[in-house]
Amino acid sequence: MTDTFKAILISRDEAKNQSVEIVEMTPDQLMDGDVDVEVEATTVNYKDGLAITGKAPVVRRWPLIPGIDLAGTVVTSSHPDWKPGDRVILNGWGVGETHHGAYAGRARLKGEWLVPLPERFTSADAMAIGTAGYTAMLCILALERAGLSPESGPVVVTGAAGGVGSVAVALLAGLGWHVVASTGRPGEAGWLRDLGAAEIIDRSELSEPGKPLAKERWAAGVDAVGSHTLANVLAATRYGGAVACCGLAQGMDLPASVAPFILRGISLLGIDSVMAPKHRRIEAWNRLATDLDPGKLRAITTQIGFDAIVDTAKDIVEGKVRGRVAVDMR
Ligand code: NDP
Repeated sequence: MTDTFKAILISRDEAKNQSVEIVEMTPDQLMDGDVDVEVEATTVNYKDGLAITGKAPVVRRWPLIPGIDLAGTVVTSSHPDWKPGDRVILNGWGVGETHHGAYAGRARLKGEWLVPLPERFTSADAMAIGTAGYTAMLCILALERAGLSPESGPVVVTGAAGGVGSVAVALLAGLGWHVVASTGRPGEAGWLRDLGAAEIIDRSELSEPGKPLAKERWAAGVDAVGSHTLANVLAATRYGGAVACCGLAQGMDLPASVAPFILRGISLLGIDSVMAPKHRRIEAWNRLATDLDPGKLRAITTQIGFDAIVDTAKDIVEGKVRGRVAVDMR
């Protein structure tokens, strides 16, 4: 195969200085895999921002094409589940970390990593959702498995104006939850209300060191922020409630006490999207297809082209990106 395609490539020199460039590549430069996919759409997640800026050790092999998410069409396959023309989604599995990723015209992947694109979605829709939105759904599924429902009481969403947060707000509100959205961007309050938030709180209410137990405010939580924010969310969770923890935008630490667990019987639910088993991925994508309002998804999403990926990656780690970014690769 002689087709060439554009790709973003992260390299590292002997002094471990990272550089990022746009290059032309050929399929024979891709890594091993049994399915080739023409990448039609991708996205910029917080993790992609960390990879491109080098602010955290996301990339662990050089040179590497970053990009943890893609949607596209199978071009060639020797995997029994997939044939040319199939529409697929890829989220995680180390793609864009140790395996060449989504920021290229073509990706070579393992068939077992792929899930079918639900019929309701275009590739662009799937990437408007991306890992952030699929993780928001994994959080909601975990809360439901913990026995929580809108009748249990309010749900708090932290980092609400970000990718995970905004999709979580839209989904939870659509399911009938009373959503308390925590944000550091008061200017986005109207946008968050349009997505379905019933209350907006300033993130400073949660981001400073707090008490082991606080007044009970919510029955459930979706936390993309970690650190003191998660500790305070836990401290204010009602008896028997649960919090899904998926992110570290404030920090990786968790300066909390056992008090909410042993005095209020609450649960902390860990959420990982990268290595999540295939049945959970399919469940999450099918629920996204039924539960996510298309108008709200449009309101959450900014469309960009390939050439804007690197600048957007810088913006997302500086907290300047609202909602989700979808990248048209065609
Ligand atoms: P975004 O950058 O889109 O959103 C993060 C949001 O967190 C920001 O928009 C901001 O919300 C808030 N925030 C940022 N910095 C701080 C701070 N210092 N203190 C308090 N709040 C802050 O990222 P994503 O939504 O894509 O990802 C969110 C987190 O979830 C990241 O840590 C990411 O790595 C993680 N993640 C984990 C996954 C998993 O598998 N567990 C999968 C996907 C993401 P606001 O402006 O509203 O205050």
